[in-house]
Amino acid sequence: MTTPLLLPFARGDASQADLLGGKGANLAEMTRLGLPVPPGFTITTEACRHFLTTGDLPPELRDLVSTAVAGLEAPSGRGFGSASDPLLVSVRSGGRFSMPGMMETVLNVGLTDRTLPGLASRGGWHFAWDCYRRLLQMYGHTVLGVDAGAFDSLLAEARSRYGAVDDAHLPTEALEGLVTRFRAVLLEDGGAELPQDPRRQLDDAITAVFRSWTGERARTYRAHEGIPETLGTAVNVVEMVFGNTGEHSGSGVCFTRDPATGAPGAYGDYLPDAQGEDVVNGSRTTLPLSELGTHEPALHGQLLGHLATLEQHYRDLCDVEFTVENGRLFLLQTRVGKRSPEAAFRIAVDMVDEGLITADEALCRVDGHQLEALLHPRFEHAESGVVLARGLPASPGAAVGVAVFDPARAVAARAGGTAPVLVRVETSPDDLAGIIAAEAVVTARGGLTSHAAVVARGLGRTCVTSVGGLVVDPAARRAVTADGVVITEGDVLSVDGTSGVIYLGALEASPSPVALALDSTARDHDDALVHAVATILEHADARRTLGVRANAETAADALLARRLGAEGIGLCRTEHMLLGPRRELVERVVVDDRREDALAEIEELATREFEAILATMDGLPVVVRLLDPPLHEFLPDLVELATDAGRREARHVVDEAQDARLATVRRWHETNPMLGLRGVRLLTVLPELVVAQVRALAVATTALRDRGLDPRPEIMVPLVAIESELAVARSHITRALRDTAVAPVPPVGTMIELPRAALTADALAGHAEFFSFGTNDLTQTTWGISRDDAEAGFLATYRREGLLTLDPFVTLDRVGVGELIRTAVRLGRGARPALGLGACGEHAGDPASIHFFAEVGLDYVSCSPPRVPIARLEAGRAAVRRHPTTDTR
Ligand code: PEP
Ligand code: MG
Repeated sequence: MTTPLLLPFARGDASQADLLGGKGANLAEMTRLGLPVPPGFTITTEACRHFLTTGDLPPELRDLVSTAVAGLEAPSGRGFGSASDPLLVSVRSGGRFSMPGMMETVLNVGLTDRTLPGLASRGGWHFAWDCYRRLLQMYGHTVLGVDAGAFDSLLAEARSRYGAVDDAHLPTEALEGLVTRFRAVLLEDGGAELPQDPRRQLDDAITAVFRSWTGERARTYRAHEGIPETLGTAVNVVEMVFGNTGEHSGSGVCFTRDPATGAPGAYGDYLPDAQGEDVVNGSRTTLPLSELGTHEPALHGQLLGHLATLEQHYRDLCDVEFTVENGRLFLLQTRVGKRSPEAAFRIAVDMVDEGLITADEALCRVDGHQLEALLHPRFEHAESGVVLARGLPASPGAAVGVAVFDPARAVAARAGGTAPVLVRVETSPDDLAGIIAAEAVVTARGGLTSHAAVVARGLGRTCVTSVGGLVVDPAARRAVTADGVVITEGDVLSVDGTSGVIYLGALEASPSPVALALDSTARDHDDALVHAVATILEHADARRTLGVRANAETAADALLARRLGAEGIGLCRTEHMLLGPRRELVERVVVDDRREDALAEIEELATREFEAILATMDGLPVVVRLLDPPLHEFLPDLVELATDAGRREARHVVDEAQDARLATVRRWHETNPMLGLRGVRLLTVLPELVVAQVRALAVATTALRDRGLDPRPEIMVPLVAIESELAVARSHITRALRDTAVAPVPPVGTMIELPRAALTADALAGHAEFFSFGTNDLTQTTWGISRDDAEAGFLATYRREGLLTLDPFVTLDRVGVGELIRTAVRLGRGARPALGLGACGEHAGDPASIHFFAEVGLDYVSCSPPRVPIARLEAGRAAVRRHPTTDTR
């Protein structure tokens, strides 16, 4: 069977989102459920893909559209192009994944000079001219590429000439005048007139929607969201219903629950006598949905009934666009609603309590990125701040940054290392790059469902909308608050997206209540959000098989990790004990004769530090990694020493000790220290350092055991490439342990950080009780890209150009590095079935990478302490994904 190019709503359903796009599939599903959806059809993504490859609509589509339009005419009794009772349609984009506002829409298609009087007889001349000017505006912008600002300024001029507070209050003659002026704009700026053949309008609109898939802003959005370029969009052609036919008409956008907090109860905005676009673009101030209940209780009741039906059916938060035409309610769109991280947790847990979803499903409805956003700081002492303005709390969070007034300046500020707060009248899809760059977004207009609010919530940016009285002047790069305070570019603002307040200057941010609650032993939480996060984490812990440890090198970090749920330390980097002022100890080992003293000192201070960490993690494993950094990090600076020697030479001053130092530093100097004398190589060259560290660990362990504690140290050798170097390191370790008579003897393992180690893991497993994948170095050495330069370097260009979708230093490269890990797991476990396996690079705290580590069968991941809850959550989700049927509730 060939893939259909067009399907009427009555023949589709929600499972066909690939073909019909999300919007089309849900319109079909609502039609199937018997909800009041205006009749329509969907031109499929298959047709779009044809258009994208050939540049033309599929030839068969013409007849299919004619038949489908005829199918709309019959039930309504209206005719497409009929002078007496014209059928008008909307033409809307709708891809597989929601891309709010990123692609085009044309409303009122089918309206011409000939059909205009027929439309006027349906809703009056004011309404008919209003529809005509909207069609000209949307056709002009979408099909002919006319700058939307050209229409906006004519509208603004008309509003001021006629003293209208908003577009809905423009008199009929003003709208008629605007139609004439808009026509002139189309001709002048777009080089064409609005076609007077309705079918031409329809074909042009369909083509323009397909073309908008490849537009700049849609591409930017897809690149950011990881949506494949090849999917294409569907186009929905729907009989127009009108919210702008008077006071018993209107349009609204609502959610089945509050998308910002997750609180139960329908939530949204409504605008009487308006089309849907007026609600979302923030051009008029909306009313809360509850006001519809006051003015039109019956309608409000019907709407709530439909929202309940949708939520029960989709078993999730739904967002709905609706229109009321002369007292009759229509649902124009639904989808599973975007929500803030806070709402995601709260809704998931509430829905389990309501019996709507299972605990496993709840766990899969949240993710580590959302949890991370909740762990962000908040302004706890906001009362001391200077309040500049207040607006709607559109996306929670506490952000401090400098004011900028256009998206390009936001991008430039971010590139220059400054966090920007983007201040706008309202945002449009063209602002996307600026919103991504921004720390926070502030808009003068727009409700909680405005573009700025929806996009910021999705991206986890702090956002405040509808800031009363704020006058923004992007050209002058300034804004004036209702109280007359002038904000100019560069002023520091603190934006509280949870309360909707904007402060002048930088407020101090404090930890979030969620972070505080997780970092405490209290188990009962009054706060709904804290309770929700704790409940979901508890379920994640019950489901996960992947252990979660932390990377910590101080007792304080270890304590935090333990409180956040870490089950051990997977990586204790010991170099911190010997860097800073203590590096001189290593220098003495390398350069001086007094190496015995230095080694004794190293052993003594390491003993103290190991004791503190092992005591904090009493009863839990602590993997101590032997010294790793390149030797040069411990030695004096070569350039300084050489300059000093030059000066002495010029003054004929002799200093033999300094000359000896210079000679030693020169001897050890390397061009690429990252690929040089570090890790096990350093330990092979200077085995005394291994011995000192191992002895310290053994002494600390014995001391704690003598105190009745249960220390569980493990010893790990870094940067191993060949079996023989691990064997040598191991023999030094074994000897040192034997000398100290520590019992039981700690397990010894190796890091897998080099491709050669991964490929010869069976041989290494002969000398190691466990492996830990050091994916920072393994990525660096597999890709041949320096991990220190990755972010600033060409990888950014690669990502911008679409050569790479993910940064391999952030999200594990499953294909390349992942294959090495799979190989090492297979070879290692083949040689030693009881081999312990962990991962301790930065990837161990990255949600997508954690799923990979669970899939390949590692025993644990080890991440930075603050990310421990994120790793617990993602490990739980990974377990549910792999074994989806065994729900425990
Ligand atoms: C690694 O390379 O992934 C690792 C954990 O070691 P380090 O970051 O200390 O080199
Ligand atoms: Mg490393």
